[in-house]
Amino acid sequence: MKILVINCGSSSLKYQLIDMNTEKDIAKGLVERIGIEGSILTQKVDDDKYIIEKPMKDHQVAIELVLKALIDEEHGVISNMSEISAVGHRVVHGGEKYSHSVLVNDEVMKNLEACVKLAPLHNPANIIGINACKELMPNTPMVVVFDTAFHQTMPEYAYMYALPYELYSKHSVRRYGMHGTSHKYVSLTAAEMMGKNIEDLKILTCHLGNGASCAAVDHGKVIDTSMGLTPLEGLVMGTRCGDIDPAIVPFVMKAENLSVEEMDNLMNKKSGVLGVSGVSSDFRDIQNAADEGNHRAKLALDMFYYRVKKYIGAYTAAMGGIDCLVFTAGLGENSIVGREAICKGLEYLGIKIDLEKNNGRGKAIEISTDDSKVKVFSIPTNEELMIARDTKGIVKNN
Ligand code: ADP
Repeated sequence: MKILVINCGSSSLKYQLIDMNTEKDIAKGLVERIGIEGSILTQKVDDDKYIIEKPMKDHQVAIELVLKALIDEEHGVISNMSEISAVGHRVVHGGEKYSHSVLVNDEVMKNLEACVKLAPLHNPANIIGINACKELMPNTPMVVVFDTAFHQTMPEYAYMYALPYELYSKHSVRRYGMHGTSHKYVSLTAAEMMGKNIEDLKILTCHLGNGASCAAVDHGKVIDTSMGLTPLEGLVMGTRCGDIDPAIVPFVMKAENLSVEEMDNLMNKKSGVLGVSGVSSDFRDIQNAADEGNHRAKLALDMFYYRVKKYIGAYTAAMGGIDCLVFTAGLGENSIVGREAICKGLEYLGIKIDLEKNNGRGKAIEISTDDSKVKVFSIPTNEELMIARDTKGIVKNN
């Protein structure tokens, strides 16, 4: 069974064709600059790189070219489209409606439209991608996998904000959380690495990339997560501020004479480790600058690690102790110094990492000492595979 996984952005599209017998990707690609000059598709199959440079006025044209690239005689991997058993679409926001992935039908499409207000930058592109695929592959089942779904198990007291209740009933203002597919994948993988069932474990997952979030996965169910109504809340991120005193918002808007959009942009695009360091949003650049003695770069990293540490403490308390701590995404999978800095001082919680075992990157490894009460892992995330697994499960049951 081969499943095509599609992740549509507003002007880009990532795809992977996954063979579900081996759970390996057979082809992956990226389409950039959809709808603007210089549209380009890059497909990789093992060492072969296939590039198509052609005007792509919209996502439908882009997906048409994706299918063409996949069946291309010289660079393709399948002989015709019917070899694709199903398509799994990543959708950012499923609101309160979806706690699981679902098969696409008219009602689902209507509900996705209703969720646009919650993710105005992301959901419209996801919807365009699904419609384009439906048009081109009318007989292929499609599944949507939501970034928010895994977090839908949070109890009311964890997802509500202490604002007037009407803001929730009228405008759906509550915590939803993001990166759900990643938190789900790494918590399942960690359970597998421990030889246990996820339902028997208390797992704390840290997705530390450009966007970053923590999740408390208590016996297989998320009970809290650090991102909120939007991805802005929680950890310090590449360019996002994470938790701040909310009163700073009107204060800075007045002091700097900023509009709502400008303030939103400042907190989402100009803050985080970029804003503090003034160097870059990329943790590697900041690490290099810190190594050269740049105080603000070191400060940005210290703030980032400290905030992760605080969330580990909070979620350990929320779950009454943890069995397992997982690091994933760009920094979590690759930063040896980052993992060490975050875990330092957490021995009293039962978290002890082995500096030698920690000296690895880009593969699933256990990094805790043999006598650590809490198992600590670094696990490369694989959201595409998680989407493909969900898609397979749903298509098989329908
Ligand atoms: P996103 O998908 O949110 O863009 P990623 O999960 O790809 O993010 O993570 C990107 C981040 O990971 C970058 O800021 C990059 O600096 C960081 N990263 C990658 N490798 C390392 C490393 N060896 N040390 C520290 N940070 C790293």
